Amino acid sequence: MAEVTLEDVNKVYSGNVVAVRDMNLDIQDGEFIVFVGPSGCGKSTALRMIAGLEDISSGKVFIGDNIVNDLQPRERDIAMVFQNYALYPHMNVRENMGFALKLRKMDKGEIDRRVNEAAKILSIERFLDRKPKALSGGQRQRVALGRAIVREPKAFLMDEPLSNLDAKLRVQMRTEIGKLHNRIGVTTIYVTHDQTEAMTMADRIVVLKDGIVQQIASPQQMYDTPKNIFVAGFIGSPAMNFIRAHLERENGGYVAAFGSTRIKLTREAIGEHPDVGEYVNREVIVGIRPEHIEDARLVEITSDSDCVQVTPQVIESMGSEKYVYFSVDRELAAHTKSMEDMTAVGADGGGSTDDFGDLMVARISPESTVREGEQVKMAVEASKIHLFDPETEQAIL
Ligand code: ADP
Repeated sequence: MAEVTLEDVNKVYSGNVVAVRDMNLDIQDGEFIVFVGPSGCGKSTALRMIAGLEDISSGKVFIGDNIVNDLQPRERDIAMVFQNYALYPHMNVRENMGFALKLRKMDKGEIDRRVNEAAKILSIERFLDRKPKALSGGQRQRVALGRAIVREPKAFLMDEPLSNLDAKLRVQMRTEIGKLHNRIGVTTIYVTHDQTEAMTMADRIVVLKDGIVQQIASPQQMYDTPKNIFVAGFIGSPAMNFIRAHLERENGGYVAAFGSTRIKLTREAIGEHPDVGEYVNREVIVGIRPEHIEDARLVEITSDSDCVQVTPQVIESMGSEKYVYFSVDRELAAHTKSMEDMTAVGADGGGSTDDFGDLMVARISPESTVREGEQVKMAVEASKIHLFDPETEQAIL
């Protein structure tokens, strides 16, 4: 087991494609780190540089105390698990798992001991004599993990290892990899484009976009305090709603106004962010997670709730919840008290035609009786809203 450290790591492919830019990262011994981001953001390239499968254009990679830039993959004492687990078809499970150790000329007794132990951890003891073709996808992926475990590496590197499995198996294997990590505690770097995998598995998540690290944080921190609009929109499902709004002062506090809606910024939402004042009378982007909007009839309205009138366009019943889609710009009307305060912002709410301020989604209780086309009052948890600078796209709150 070991720490893995990246110092100012860059990867420039021929044709001046910068795949990874100035990446700095300290991975603790035993930590489970997930690199996540959309396709092409550089996550595989970053992983492959750590593995030694890709040259590092500049910067340093350390595994433990050693700089590994010039070491071959097999000299780095790491084990990779890929999406295509490529087991040897003519070998049984036991031989597949022990093969790397045999190549190292390890003592047969020791190979057997390690294979048996890994098989036990992965619950594949029953399959040790089978050939890969007699195994299910999930069992094969377990053998691939077993092959990595027996090497007792300093770190596991996993590149979308579950993406070939069907949805149910993916969820199951996700849990198993988590348990495996708890049990053997080896430093693990896991690449995925799936934010749910990242949220459920990681100790810390690294969000990448265009080769640049956007934020490094625990899943909860990433959800509660995304640093910019990209992270805010990427983490969470359905994605956060973004609306262009105007920040105003009101009764010694602040409100974010859009259309005829005015959301009070609570002390809790503002926290220790004195910069908010700089945005008064300026445009901001308000971020509201779908789960922070609820059918007002089902919640106790407190001074922290801001209610808005909306007309649902589409309602999807998921059983455990309902997704309600409505368009925000022209429709939202503030609750009566705030209506009296309406001033500067035009009733068309700025009428933006960009990504912000079209269709919003609320994730509400299945008990709600809202219907498509019928106006309903929704309560927004004002203490949970986010504010972003429209130019830099960085979080203000
Ligand atoms: P991800 O794993 O996040 O999908 P990659 O790390 O595979 O992204 O790719 C990052 C960027 O580098 C992409 O723009 C991709 O097109 C580019 N890239 C990847 N491999 C090569 C290569 N061998 N040659 C040139 N460009 C590459």
